[in-house]
Amino acid sequence: MRLFAAGHTDPGRVRSSNEDAYFIGDSIFAVADGMGGHVAGEVASATALVPLEEIDAKVYPDGATAIHALEGAIKEANEQVVSKAEESPEYEGMGTTLTALMFEGRRIHFAHVGDSRAYLLRDGQFNQLTRDHTFVQQLVEEGRISEEEAAVHPRRSVITRAIGVPGEIDVDVMTLDLEQGDQLLLCSDGLTGVVDDDDIAEILGQLDPPERTVERLVQAANRAGGPDNITTVLLRWDETPTGPARDGNTADLSGPAILVQSSAGEGPGDSWVQGMRRFGSFTSRRRGTGLPQHRRNLAGLLVALILLGALLYGGGRWLLGRSWYVGVEGDQVAIFQGVDASIGPLDLHWVAETTDLDLGDVAPFFADRLRSTIPAASLTDARRIIENAPRVSPTPTTTPSPTPSTPASPTDDGTTPS
Ligand code: MN
Repeated sequence: MRLFAAGHTDPGRVRSSNEDAYFIGDSIFAVADGMGGHVAGEVASATALVPLEEIDAKVYPDGATAIHALEGAIKEANEQVVSKAEESPEYEGMGTTLTALMFEGRRIHFAHVGDSRAYLLRDGQFNQLTRDHTFVQQLVEEGRISEEEAAVHPRRSVITRAIGVPGEIDVDVMTLDLEQGDQLLLCSDGLTGVVDDDDIAEILGQLDPPERTVERLVQAANRAGGPDNITTVLLRWDETPTGPARDGNTADLSGPAILVQSSAGEGPGDSWVQGMRRFGSFTSRRRGTGLPQHRRNLAGLLVALILLGALLYGGGRWLLGRSWYVGVEGDQVAIFQGVDASIGPLDLHWVAETTDLDLGDVAPFFADRLRSTIPAASLTDARRIIENAPRVSPTPTTTPSPTPSTPASPTDDGTTPS
């Protein structure tokens, strides 16, 4: 029984630097896609791999201990990236994805944060094992956009989880039993962003030597434009030297025996996926929180929405409060704060001061201007506009002009000889 592995990374055709990193050890394999200005992305991805390298080739008494060690390394990776970012201003805000796996006996334990991916090709079926921690993936899961829309969404690269965020780190973990001929692929979004799953599966299915396969995957991404750094790590599980029958092997597996059951019963296609689900393996863990994942997501979303609302309301009101205009409230002239608009049912203005000046008291042309509102620089300015508003003469029609021969001329040339 042998595990073959190979990895390849390439800056792609657009970027000058490569912020991706990968690690291939004896039992640990990982891909990290760093982000941050200048050299920060490279530092983040390289830093995150160090704690994983430190647990490489270690032997654990059981699966639970192994998973615990893997999770611990991810947590340590987060702490190291965070502390390095705090050390120096040029590293501020840096982060990285981290998709790692640990080979233990005939099993693979995965740990995953971000939008790099793990795939399994088994019996011709190609499946993504990891769930992208991205904004668009959330939209897909909420049924708000389709997979196709997600693939071209302008915010598709926005990730919702990363290594390098202070505090508790939320890690997806999963265990998979290996079967003869399994191929596992770890890759950064530089591959999956431009190469379809079908095309990736096809290249894996060629069964070239692993070193050649990882190169061909990178070439495919570069042919598609290579807009991002590309990293691929391939593992191939081969137990061909007429090893013991699989039944004998799997019988002594305690936890994940469900996979044996599912591969025997249902169709080969989604059976293992169902098996994984029943096994409940791909669980998300954050130390110190007992809430199930979906509850936490929902709670987080609610908190975010409330904060956003408060921010918009407070900030918006503050901004709007700096704008003034004179307009009409009912039939009265009034001073408003804000802008003469509304978003849905939400008015972006409010009455700051009412007056006892009736719309009918001002000259008709000015009444028209008031209806379409007159901007003011300040409250004082607004009051001045109202003070100077041209009034209709108090008795324009009821009292006839005392001297009908003269009234036209003074108003025409602007001089009032009196
Ligand atoms: Mn990337």
